[in-house]
Parts: sequence; C-alpha cells; structure tokens
Amino acid sequence: MAGESEFAGRVALVTGAASGIGAAAARWLDRQGIGELILIDMDRPGLDALGLGCKVQPIGGDVADPSLWKLFERELPRLDYAVLNAGIASNGDIVDLDIATWRKTMAVNLDGMFLSLRSALRAMKKQGSGSIVMTASVSGVKAAAGTAAYSASKAATIQLAKVAATEAAKYGVRVNAIAPGGVDTGIWDKAEWFAGLVEQHGSRAEALAAMAKDATPLGRFASADEVAAQIGFLLSDAAATITGTCLVSDGGVSL
Ligand code: NAD
Repeated sequence: MAGESEFAGRVALVTGAASGIGAAAARWLDRQGIGELILIDMDRPGLDALGLGCKVQPIGGDVADPSLWKLFERELPRLDYAVLNAGIASNGDIVDLDIATWRKTMAVNLDGMFLSLRSALRAMKKQGSGSIVMTASVSGVKAAAGTAAYSASKAATIQLAKVAATEAAKYGVRVNAIAPGGVDTGIWDKAEWFAGLVEQHGSRAEALAAMAKDATPLGRFASADEVAAQIGFLLSDAAATITGTCLVSDGGVSL
C-alpha cells in the first residue's frame, strides 16, 4: 500500500515537472505515497494541470535563475529526494552554431543543473540523508553530429553527478544520473526539424517510430513512465549501494 512505502511522508523536488519525464516522475512519486512534492517549471499552468493526490508546492520559474534557488533554500524545511530534470534540446553543427544557442543550452541544462544540485545538497547535508537523480542523456555518452551544445551539457551533467557523489557520500547523500535515449515526450515537438519528419511520415507516432528504428537496437523509444520508474529505482533504498553512476537507458543506442 502507498502509505507503507519508504516514500511515505517524505519531501521530493522535481524540476521540469510540467511535462514529459518530470511529470511522469512526479506522478510516480505520488503513486508511491510521497508526502509532499515541490515542483518547479517555467510552465506554471502545466504544473497546476498535473492533478496529483499528494501535497504539492508548484513553483513557476527558470531553473537557471539563482534568485529562484535562494528563495527555495530559504523556504525549504527538509528534502529527501530530488529529480533534477529540467532541460531543453538544441541542434546545429558546430560550424553553424551561434553563441546564443550555445549559451541558452548551457544556461538551462548546466547552470540550472548546478544551481538545483547545490540547493538540494545544502538541504540534504543539514539532515544527513537524501537521494538525487539528475537527468542527463545518451548524448552525453555517445557523440552524434549536430548535437554539440546539448551533448556537451549532458556530458557535463554526468560528470557533475559523479563529483557530487564523491562529495556527498560523507554526509549520507547519494547522487546518480540517468541517460535516456529517445523518450516519447514533448521535447521533440519543440524542435523545428521534427515537424518536417512528422509531415514526411504522416503522423507523430510514425516519425518517432522511424527515428527509433534507425538508431535503437531495441527498436523503440521509451515512454516517460518507463524512465520515471527507473529514476524511482535510483531514488529508492533498492539502490542504496549505488552512487555516482550513470544509468544508460537507451534501448542500446550507445552500444
Ligand atoms: P519536455 O520538454 O517534455 O519537458 C521538459 C520540461 O522542462 C518542460 O515542462 C519545460 O517547461 C521545463 N523547462 C525547460 N526549461 C526550463 C527552465 N529553464 N526552467 C524550468 N523548467 C524548464 O522534455 P523531456 O523529454 O521530459 O525532458 C526532460 C529531461 O530529459 C531533459 O533534461 C532532457 O534533456 C532529458 N532527455 C530527454 C530525452 C527525450 O528523448 N525526450 C532523451 C534524453 C534526455
């Protein structure tokens, strides 16, 4: 029963919680009987639409904004779990990549990851316990043309998780990363080139299926719920001896 789970009565933070993997992680934690969810996203109405059963503190804001995290630290009584997941995609060969795209990608994916990680660690250090999962990507493990800014931000996320794990172990906190391959979320719909692929294949589902078929040995993308359950495993006591790892969940893309 949910009330008897290790998550019962605990407090969890999820960033990028209004959509995709973050929303699925919030729903997963809600199903485990989490006591309170602090949800952060630029898309505040999206947070309100989640319809969760537990106590929810929705915060509309930009994870790359240091003042958001100052406020968060001031108002936070305790924090048991953190899913640091907010992120954006970007594309472009290095020769064509403009500095604005590079900086925007780094701001959200890396500054945001650093600021949220620092705040979560500060809260958890005080209480001497906690578990953090940071959403990286297979792009941080495997090089692919046209992904420089995104890939660099995700490789850095993996290394940030490892360094954090070495520092936080001494105060009882575990830090891991997850590196999904293709996941069926709204992130694809925000990319201009994806609209062309949808037109070419006749539907969104067919476009995703074609991308998966080309590059994924298991032949399909993951669902956000599947990735959320894997994040849940890393958060949980079932992963009590796992820290500083990057769980590659990519259907074999990186093999
Ligand atoms: P998504 O677009 O469905 O959700 C991302 C959420 O983050 C959105 O709700 C968005 O509003 C929020 N967000 C974006 N920038 C923000 C900011 N500056 N501050 C606060 N919130 C912000 O995408 P998703 O696929 O669920 O992506 C979640 C994470 O998973 C990202 O870090 C992404 O890089 C990573 N990822 C996704 C895939 C995939 O195929 N979908 C694969 C590997 C890794």
